Amino acid sequence: MKTDNPYLELDQKIVGDVYTSKAPESLLITLCDDFGSRFGGTEGAKLASDLLKEKFAEYGLHNVHKDAYDYDGWYRGKATLQILSPVQRDLPCISLPYCPAAEIEGELVFVNEGRAEEFEKEKDQIAGNIILSQSGGIHRMEKYDRAILHDASGFIFQNHYPGYSEVTGTIGWNHEAIIPGIGISYETGEFLKRLSQRKGKVKVRIQTTDEYRRTQAWNIVGELPGKTYPEEVIIVGCHYDGHDISQGANDPLSGMVVVTEMARVLAAYAKGSLARTVRFVAWSNEEVGLFGAYHDANQFRDSPEKVRFTWNLDSAGSPGGRKGIGLHRLPDFEPFIENAAKEMALDIPIRQGISGYSDHYPYFLLGIPTGSIATIGRPAGRGFGHTAFDTVDKTDTMSIREAAALGARLVLRQLNAVQLSLKPRSAEEIEKMLREDSGLEQHRLREAIYEKLGKENLRQYCNEVV
Ligand SMILES: [Zn+2]
Repeated sequence: MKTDNPYLELDQKIVGDVYTSKAPESLLITLCDDFGSRFGGTEGAKLASDLLKEKFAEYGLHNVHKDAYDYDGWYRGKATLQILSPVQRDLPCISLPYCPAAEIEGELVFVNEGRAEEFEKEKDQIAGNIILSQSGGIHRMEKYDRAILHDASGFIFQNHYPGYSEVTGTIGWNHEAIIPGIGISYETGEFLKRLSQRKGKVKVRIQTTDEYRRTQAWNIVGELPGKTYPEEVIIVGCHYDGHDISQGANDPLSGMVVVTEMARVLAAYAKGSLARTVRFVAWSNEEVGLFGAYHDANQFRDSPEKVRFTWNLDSAGSPGGRKGIGLHRLPDFEPFIENAAKEMALDIPIRQGISGYSDHYPYFLLGIPTGSIATIGRPAGRGFGHTAFDTVDKTDTMSIREAAALGARLVLRQLNAVQLSLKPRSAEEIEKMLREDSGLEQHRLREAIYEKLGKENLRQYCNEVV
């Protein structure tokens, strides 16, 4: 049969192998059930890094190594939330990663999803008091940063999903968290709202006892060297750390095992014949502020043009939709994807947008084009993500296979393309996006905080790229 797909034979091998392989499923179960959360600074993180290194080597990648760095690890302590008035009650809560040890008292100020206008409405009540904001709508960090900019003394983050207990998420983002923050369940938050509606102002006390200790983390790296343009590199990565209260089965591991599976099949069927170099990375410490990705991106600081693209496959195998491509404001790359889709006999939905909340961001800041595998049709929001309920039983082998087959076939074409038309962004273009792009609001809020408090007064954990 005549075909206009020059990769038909390779495609058939890759798809056939991926759809009959148990490798990702078995790796994911070991990483979750045997090593736990793999949160930075835990024994599980170390064991996971060893196993991922072993897998990269077993699959035949070159130059497989661990790239270590030291940083200030955060260690959870007991947190308490007490209502002082109009009733007295102890409520369940957890501190949010990078929360400092603290004891504060204040009245609750409710700001719903924590958007600018919701803060504006309550602005006279906030100084010295405690913000209660729910998850959903916008990223947690934006809610938290607005609380700081309004001089709140503390931050309570309510899960907006019933039945999933407390929600977590870092509030440090490469700095010691400036005001203490705790996570509570939907039900606890609704109780507090009812109490305030029925009986007026609610005064609470929050105590946190978290600690910091110097510790080590590792990115795991392995490559398939290119034959024609070995100095041109495409990075394919995902983080392997989960939140400490969770198995982190879908976020991040459904994506991490997509990366290992892509490495496995590209090594098996295309090793030695790829034009460009593909560099697989398992990033550490994404959940607490992208430390691993910042550390990795730093080595391309002086020659970012070497990295022609960075794929961030965080949670890429999540269930609940079909797989498409997320491009971080790269309309010029769409024809390449569309052409590849035609060859692959696939319909690949493309989404354009950017956020600064995952591991592509440090590469993006260097001007490197970045993208992801997106799960299209999944309801917005994290659901059980960032809770104790992101467990192996909620992963979906078929979603992982779909993402791995798509990723391997697409990256294969990118590695072998005669020409990659995408150019790196200039520093001016990045600056403009940071100023104007609706997806990068957190950058502007952080700048406002640095101006207010002085960046030099904040304890920093890891070297940033900019
Ligand atoms: Zn993630």
